[in-house]
Amino acid sequence: MNLILLGPPGAGKGTQAQRLEASRGLVQLSTGDMLRAEVKAGTALGAQAKANMDQGALVPDAIMVDIIRERIQRPDCARGIILDGFPRTVAQAEALDRMMADTGRKLDRVIEMKVVDELLVERITGRFTCAKCGAGYHDRFKQPKLAGVCDVCGSHDFTRRADDKQATVTSRLEAYHRQTAPLLPYYQARGVLQPVDGMAEIDQVTQQIERLLNGEG
Ligand code: AMP
Repeated sequence: MNLILLGPPGAGKGTQAQRLEASRGLVQLSTGDMLRAEVKAGTALGAQAKANMDQGALVPDAIMVDIIRERIQRPDCARGIILDGFPRTVAQAEALDRMMADTGRKLDRVIEMKVVDELLVERITGRFTCAKCGAGYHDRFKQPKLAGVCDVCGSHDFTRRADDKQATVTSRLEAYHRQTAPLLPYYQARGVLQPVDGMAEIDQVTQQIERLLNGEG
């Protein structure tokens, strides 16, 4: 099964993708995570991407398409993929259609995670993760059980994304509405788009997605 999770920054795509990876054996392909890894490794690609990411702007299509083309050809992706953060423009969606056709794959569903902008700013600016295991937390909605200690691995080291600052979040939301939201009618016209209420509790969102994937939606 090949899926896209589509929605604004902070909609919960990464959280749900991780859960689907665990429950369905699919491979999560998060382009944001891939770019952050390039930045951390200090590569030329990372340096170029960072300039865009710091502004809350999208990284150019040609770069993103090359990254995904290389990644989906690897053997693990034969199990099925969950695209998290790609495509983000119509040009990327068109390139993805070609890549899927070339590799004999089918895009089964595009799940739209609907969340209103007012909630997103609070969700994004409050989030942080364990630097060691990547477990996600939030200042208001999900503090570690013991302050300063990761529930999962016990680490004391936490990190916040550089682009989760208020000023950058506004630009990221603008980029979503202007460049990514046109993908909704694009996939609607192909009959693969299905919405879920991304404002529900995390477990309820997971249940909604699982129902859709089981054909019960
Ligand atoms: P994310 O972790 O998905 O919120 O992505 C973080 C940042 O990485 C975005 O704000 C963009 O600057 C960049 N990025 C991630 N995926 C893409 C993509 N498919 N196209 C363009 N830029 C991207």
